[in-house]
Amino acid sequence: MIVVMKPDASKDNVQHVIDLVRDYGLKEHVIVGTDRTVVACIGDKRNVDHGAIENAPNVERIVPILAPYKMASLEVKQEKSQIAIGPENVKIGGNKVAVIAGPCAVENRDQLLRTAELVKEAGCIGLRAGAFKPRTSPYAFQGMGEEGLKILAEARDNTGLAVVTEVVSVETIDMVAEYADVLQIGARNMQHYPLLDAVGKAGKPILLKRGLCARLDEFLLAAEYIINGGNKDVILCERGIRTYEEYVRNTFCVAAIPELNDKTHLPVVADPSHGTGHAHLIQATSLAAVAAGADALLLECHLDPEHAMSDGAQSITPDALKELMTKAKKVAQAIDRDI
Ligand code: PEP
Ligand code: MN
Repeated sequence: MIVVMKPDASKDNVQHVIDLVRDYGLKEHVIVGTDRTVVACIGDKRNVDHGAIENAPNVERIVPILAPYKMASLEVKQEKSQIAIGPENVKIGGNKVAVIAGPCAVENRDQLLRTAELVKEAGCIGLRAGAFKPRTSPYAFQGMGEEGLKILAEARDNTGLAVVTEVVSVETIDMVAEYADVLQIGARNMQHYPLLDAVGKAGKPILLKRGLCARLDEFLLAAEYIINGGNKDVILCERGIRTYEEYVRNTFCVAAIPELNDKTHLPVVADPSHGTGHAHLIQATSLAAVAAGADALLLECHLDPEHAMSDGAQSITPDALKELMTKAKKVAQAIDRDI
């Protein structure tokens, strides 16, 4: 349930409600909106005396949360969450569509630093690249590990770009969080519940990818794990799902973007690279994603896609990225946004 405070409720009034809901054994999440504060209460409500809470000073009303994903739901917070990332605190979820690009993996220092410069030059605000790669085959390149993270941090220092990189295990969260600005939870780990719970305490925003066969409600419940674990800064990423279709690597679901925007206040990012698997489809699907209301794009971009150590077929060149940015800006402007 949500306890909606009156617009002029004081901090003490809110604290009083928190004390009351704790007395009933519930866990509170306080959401401070532009015009009023609400206290979302999670837990077993059977013994709650609604009247006592409703009569507390400056409580306006109590409303139930119907969605199974409580904290991620639009019922709890009607305004889109804006999540500041990186050294320049660029907001994801604001009017500006953010673009984050980079290779699938950090391959070496020169490659990454050069790519970062070009990504910055193209107008992107973030740099993506994996240092820990969850690969389908145990014999495939698994990433450079901590050395890769150090290179990413150097690229951030050189360019001011926000670094987005994947964390694959509970044991390496602190290490990745030391170097990265945003921790990515990959599609294969969307239902790794101990990992979701643990990144709730990572102290950095999380980019959560939709699982390969996850429905939207399962995706939102995965986000709920992270929020419930203590981290409200969750960015959702539509990256396509596994279907019977074979002309694409995954089936990128453009409709998921407006549907998520109808269900959650969390920012929504589109990843057409994994969503299609083919470089020649990236521009069109990126433009479609912006038109559909994506708050950001996550794109794989490689200096030499033909020789990439992973995901070369879906990686665009820096030149293609530049062209995409120019077109995406026009699409964003057509829906009263910008890039
Ligand atoms: C990636 O971003 O390189 C990646 C592995 O993505 P996903 O988890 O969506 O497959
Ligand atoms: Mn990849």
